[in-house]
Amino acid sequence: MAKAPDQSDPRHLAELSERAATFVNENLIPHEVTAELAGGPLPVETQREIAQRALELRLHGGLHLAEHGGNSWTATEWFLVEEQFGRSTNGVSWYIPNAYNVWKAGSPEQIERWLKPALRGELHDAYAVTEIDAGSDPSGITTRAVRVGAGKWLLNGEKWFVTFGSVAKVIVVMAMAAEGGQLLPTLFAVPADAPGVEIIADVPFTHNYPHGHPTMRFTDVELIDSDILGGLGNGEDLQRLWFTEERLGIAARCIGAMQRLIEESVDWAVNREQGGARLIDHQGVSFPLADSAADAAAGRLLGLEVARLTDAGADPKLVHGKASMAKLFCSEAAGRCADRAVQIFGGRGYMRTTAAERFWRELRVDRIWEGTSEVQRLVVARSLERRGVKSMLT
Ligand SMILES: Cc1cc2nc3c(=O)[nH]c(=O)nc-3n(C[C@H](O)[C@H](O)[C@H](O)COP(=O)(O)OP(=O)(O)OC[C@H]3O[C@@H](n4cnc5c(N)ncnc54)[C@H](O)[C@@H]3O)c2cc1C
Repeated sequence: MAKAPDQSDPRHLAELSERAATFVNENLIPHEVTAELAGGPLPVETQREIAQRALELRLHGGLHLAEHGGNSWTATEWFLVEEQFGRSTNGVSWYIPNAYNVWKAGSPEQIERWLKPALRGELHDAYAVTEIDAGSDPSGITTRAVRVGAGKWLLNGEKWFVTFGSVAKVIVVMAMAAEGGQLLPTLFAVPADAPGVEIIADVPFTHNYPHGHPTMRFTDVELIDSDILGGLGNGEDLQRLWFTEERLGIAARCIGAMQRLIEESVDWAVNREQGGARLIDHQGVSFPLADSAADAAAGRLLGLEVARLTDAGADPKLVHGKASMAKLFCSEAAGRCADRAVQIFGGRGYMRTTAAERFWRELRVDRIWEGTSEVQRLVVARSLERRGVKSMLT
């Protein structure tokens, strides 16, 4: 059996990043325009090819354990792979087998039933927290799970923006479980084909991605104790872990997006002449490129530092604050870079067949989902007070 690599060896990390970059260049980027022109989804055969190749190259599974079908990556390994995935548009990396991180807290039965098949690419999950009146402030969640006999529950509620909701076989639903006169935030693994689960709206969004973000209604859905994920009342703690990881993942992908925007913009600016000079020789073009480079490089240092702290076992609350800072900076910076790139490409920057145009639309949501930029600022400001300025800045 091949010796397992030293996960912190710089040569191993460089090889992993290069493997992911080659996969993105050869197996994802070539399909972007097809996806864009088709309004999002790729042909089923192409979807399968992407999933298969990612499995062969062991680039799937996020941070999930090898024994569950993932790769047991460190946060740094994962960050480097996500960075490369971020270089692609149209969510074509979404065909790579993966599952939400809260399954780590799943029971052996849930891991066999949902997590392992998801990491083999046989099914998709979805994660439903947001509601009509509970977005940035989840304390307003009204979805309820009520005990209706020994080991039985009835779930009622409506969830908004359920990514993968139309294809998922299982939906992780955040509900307030009524128990002993208390309301306990709890995650339930709800089979998508359970009676009472329905999609009530599926409107188009700004990006052309593989799947939509429908509104889902849960009416008297019958569940049992073993559908509870991670224990009764543990929903908020699990969600905080999910947010920390997901926010760092968004930072990593935004960094990859900035890198590709800069690569393509430099290539264009070096090779196109207007006004008797190459575009890059006009300061009106070269200065925004320099600003984008500074954004991308600074964001990368911050993101890698959060990954390093995670791997070093730093205080999870500090990591949470810094992950918010990384998401805030990288998503805002990526938006700026995409806007500059559109301008540098001129009229071509407004064509949907140009990556800059697609990134310009697609990166917008990174300032909204997994907590808006304003919510990240709240977390960062609170962390400055509670974890200390020095801990947050050094
Ligand atoms: C494409 C897409 C996919 C998504 N996927 C999922 C998913 O899979 N699962 C899921 O559960 N959710 C998902 N979401 C929901 C997403 O997480 C929420 O949209 C986001 O958290 C913001 O909530 P909201 O839309 O209700 O906005 P609101 O909370 O109503 O906020 C509106 C505005 O007010 C600002 N604001 C709110 N509170 C404050 C405050 N205290 N201080 C300063 N400003 C504030 C916000 O920053 C924002 O600018 C998705 C959203 C989108 C767009």
